Amino acid sequence: MAAYRSPSNSIILDNIKCVDFINRRITPCTLHVERGVIKAKTIKRAHLPKGIPVCNLRGRFVIPGFIDAHTHLIATGIEMQRLDLSRCRSLDECLQKIRANMKNHELVFASNWDEYSWQRDERERLDKHMLDRISKSKPIIMRRICGHYAVVNSAALQRISKQWKIVDRKRGRLYEDVVSDLNDIFTPTDEMLRKAVGLATHRALRLGITSVHEISNPRRFRIMQQLRRKLKMRFAIYLPVKYHKHLVASGLRTGYGDDWLKFMGTKVYVDGAMGARTAALWRPFTDTHGRGKILITMRKLAKIVQSAEKHSLQLMIHSIGDRATSMVLEVLREYITPGNPLRHRLEHLELLKDASVADIGRLKIIASMQPNFVRRWQNPGGMYDQILGPRYTKMNCFKSLLRARARVVFGSDCMPLGPLYGIEGAVGHPSGRGKLHIADAFRLYTAAGAHGTFDEKKKGKIEPGYFADLVVIDKNPLEERNLGSLKIDSVMVAGHFVYKRALL
Ligand SMILES: [Zn+2]
Repeated sequence: MAAYRSPSNSIILDNIKCVDFINRRITPCTLHVERGVIKAKTIKRAHLPKGIPVCNLRGRFVIPGFIDAHTHLIATGIEMQRLDLSRCRSLDECLQKIRANMKNHELVFASNWDEYSWQRDERERLDKHMLDRISKSKPIIMRRICGHYAVVNSAALQRISKQWKIVDRKRGRLYEDVVSDLNDIFTPTDEMLRKAVGLATHRALRLGITSVHEISNPRRFRIMQQLRRKLKMRFAIYLPVKYHKHLVASGLRTGYGDDWLKFMGTKVYVDGAMGARTAALWRPFTDTHGRGKILITMRKLAKIVQSAEKHSLQLMIHSIGDRATSMVLEVLREYITPGNPLRHRLEHLELLKDASVADIGRLKIIASMQPNFVRRWQNPGGMYDQILGPRYTKMNCFKSLLRARARVVFGSDCMPLGPLYGIEGAVGHPSGRGKLHIADAFRLYTAAGAHGTFDEKKKGKIEPGYFADLVVIDKNPLEERNLGSLKIDSVMVAGHFVYKRALL
């Protein structure tokens, strides 16, 4: 990736329109950036020192860099090197693509298929036998876009140990943990991982993302530490709960590291996902009549929360269905320090009871949510409607949470990456419980995320003392009519342009 570095450690960004999403204000100004940090913000350039390179932005709008508060970026970078089925419009098309890829590979790992993009839903037809007809000897893995469900052939199944419980061996169907762990079973090489960091970083930067809260694993964390000096965006890392004991033993604490790569805490799964019908609900799914799955006992969750509190580790708790979140809140109410100083966070919260909304606000829990889900699934006849019926309009209730004074932060879960895409979802939400003012939608994707990693004095604002992590856009982002056509012109991280679309 081409980096655009200024020869000195200082740069003046002149003639810009600074956008403030908190006060919903735009001010013309000039910024003096020194050693990656905004040193001065002024209206008159004459006040600034001479002899520093000047970049004239010709009246363009500048916003704080986006913070994507829930990513699997390295996994995305691995996917970018694998077979992508997201554009396939039928099961047949998926199978053809796999067949075409068999020749040159020892193994075919295809991902991102989504039966909701198919002309006919043939998900039920897809099983082991179908993939065995393509190859009996080379492993084939077909992972659904949600990352919670996959179908594999017999050769792949042989490599999946019996310890994994939620596996339908007769039909080659895998659910939940084992699916998230497929990259550990069919491991990418170190070289693939290094390449993944670069590929995914480039993809994120083009979308204006300058920081991510990344769900990782120890091996990827190690690779990232090796690449630490080459990183072009900032990573806050969460590691799976199965390593929790080792994290505690190694003395790692929330915030360990630096402003480019720091360790945050432990990620825990409480339930599954909507698309896989494994999110834990109070009232059943309308199509399967199941109520989903709770993946951890209350006792065990309580132990983890107590341990996290004792050892100063932030928890990132995956909880999608209303039944899962009720359980989590019961545990948190009992065991976290009042005011939630460790800033424990709940991920997704797609369906919530009103009582839980109030609790999340009262307990000051961070609600980490994905506005892109609204766009993808929360429309009449869409996935949420099909599996939940009329309840679906109430999902992803960002506005209700804000009214309850909850700290909502936005992320994408890489489904797909893209803050502008997500912001459109939040602004176009079908219900008053979710629909946001455009400034709030941007704020939740910028300043709000900084709080999640204790960076509220460094990120999310264009003010002296804050990082020069900035995004230049072509039109006024506070005007809703511009939303569909906003273009990111360039992106700066720590005072260096790391992406430029148009010549400035
Ligand atoms: Zn995720």
